[in-house]
Amino acid sequence: MTKNTEEIVQSSLQVLFNDNDFLPELQSEIREKALRSLRSILSTPNQVHKSFLRVSLENGEIVRIPAFRVQHNNILGAYKGGIRFHETVNEEEVVNLATLMTLKNALHDVPFGGAKGGVVINPRDYSVRELHLICKRYVQYFSSIIGPDKDIPAPDMGTSEREMDWMMGEYKSIHPGESYLDSFTGKSVINGGSLGRKMATGKGVYFSLRYLLHDFPKEHKNYLNNLKNKFADTILEQEGKPLKLAIQGFGNVGSVVALEAFNCTHLDNQIVAVSDRNVTLYNPSGLNIPKLIEYASKHGGDLPISNEHLQQASISAQIKKRDWLLQIDADILFLAALEDQVHKDNMDQIKAKVIIEGANAPITGIADSYLSDRGTVIIPDILVNAGGVIVSYFEWLQGRETQFYTEKEVYKRLFNKMKTTFDVVYPQFVSDNLPLRENCYIEAIMKLSTVLYKQGKLY
Ligand code: GLU
Repeated sequence: MTKNTEEIVQSSLQVLFNDNDFLPELQSEIREKALRSLRSILSTPNQVHKSFLRVSLENGEIVRIPAFRVQHNNILGAYKGGIRFHETVNEEEVVNLATLMTLKNALHDVPFGGAKGGVVINPRDYSVRELHLICKRYVQYFSSIIGPDKDIPAPDMGTSEREMDWMMGEYKSIHPGESYLDSFTGKSVINGGSLGRKMATGKGVYFSLRYLLHDFPKEHKNYLNNLKNKFADTILEQEGKPLKLAIQGFGNVGSVVALEAFNCTHLDNQIVAVSDRNVTLYNPSGLNIPKLIEYASKHGGDLPISNEHLQQASISAQIKKRDWLLQIDADILFLAALEDQVHKDNMDQIKAKVIIEGANAPITGIADSYLSDRGTVIIPDILVNAGGVIVSYFEWLQGRETQFYTEKEVYKRLFNKMKTTFDVVYPQFVSDNLPLRENCYIEAIMKLSTVLYKQGKLY
C-alpha cells in the first residue's frame, strides 16, 4: 500500500473510533483491540499471488513474464478488481490498487471485496497471438483462486473486452460445466458483457462533477450555501463565464469524460485542453471533442500530433508538450491517465481549483497533502471512478440470471447508485473541513468495520 492510502486508512480509523456514536457498545479496552485489529486487517492484503507466465513468442523465444493477483479482502463479498497490463506494474502498486478496490466497493455498497491483477508487459510490444497466449496463461496460472464466487477480474489499464473474452474463454475450458458468464466482467456484449460497461467509468466521473455543482437536491439543508463557501473565490463565483476544463488522458475514461462534458446542457463547459501519451491539444475557446474522438478512433486511439494532422481533420487547436496540460489555469482538471501524475516535482505548478481523479491514485501522497493544504479541492478516485466496477457488478448479476438490461436501464441504475453515495458524502464535505478523500475513506471503513463487528470478527 502506498504511504498515502495507508496514512489515510489509519487516520480515518482514528477519526471513526474517536467518535463515540460509532459502535457505542464497544467500550474502552475492547474498542482499542478492535481498532488494532482493523489497522492490520486493512493495511495488509489477504493474499498476494505471484507467478511467471511462460510464453512462447512469435520468434520462437520463450519468456517468463511476471504476473500478480492480489486479493486484499473479501469482507463484503468475492474479491473484485481489474487486471493491469503495464511495463512498470509491480507488487506494491497492485497491493495499493487492490486496497482502493476494497474501499471503492465498500463506499458504493457494491457487494464485493477488493483485488487487482498485474502483468508486467507493454501490450504494444506484443502481437495479438502473443497477447492471447499471455491472457490464457494468466487464467491457467491463477485458475484455482479465481471464479464467480471467489474472485472476479475485469479490465484495467492495458486490457479491454478483448482480453476479458479470451480469459473467460480459457476459464470455461478449464472449468467445464461450471458457470462462467459471471467469472469475468468487462466482456464484449455478445459474450455476456453488459451494455454501457465500456463508457461507465467516464460517465460516472463526469456525473460526479455535474451532481456536485448542479444536480444535488437544492432543498437539502444549507447545501448550496455551504457549497458556495467551499468554493469561495473559485468556480462558483464566475457567473456568466464558462467552466474551463482540462482533461489528462484520452482513453476509455478521458475521452468519455470529454464527450459528456461537451454534450452537457446543465453546465456551461469549455474543454480547453486534452492530452494523451504524446501531446496536449489546447484551444482557449474550447476544443471540438466529437471531431477529436473521431480522429482518435481512426488512429489507434491517439490524438493528432502535428498541425498537418489537425488541418486534415479540420480541428482547431494548438499543439503543446504532453505534460503542459497539468499547469493550465483551468477551473477543473480531470486526471484520467496513469497514477502518480501529480507529484512533488510538479505539484506547485498546478493551478486548477478542482481536481477530479478519473484514474486510480493519480496524485502522490505528498502532492495530495500539499494541494489540500493549499485549498485545492480533490474529488477522489474511489468516489468518482467507481462507474466501471458498479456496472461490472450489474454485468455479474446479469450473467448469473442470464437476463440482460437495456443500456438506458444500466445508466439509470449506475447514476442511482452513485447518487446514493454522493448524497451521503457531498453534504458532509461541503459542511466540514475534512478533505473529501477522508470523508470517503471514513464512510467505507465504517461499513467494513460494522460488518466485521456484527460477524464477530473484530476482537
Ligand atoms: N479496473 C476498474 C477499477 O479500477 C474496474 C474494476 C472492475 O470492474 O472490477 O475500478
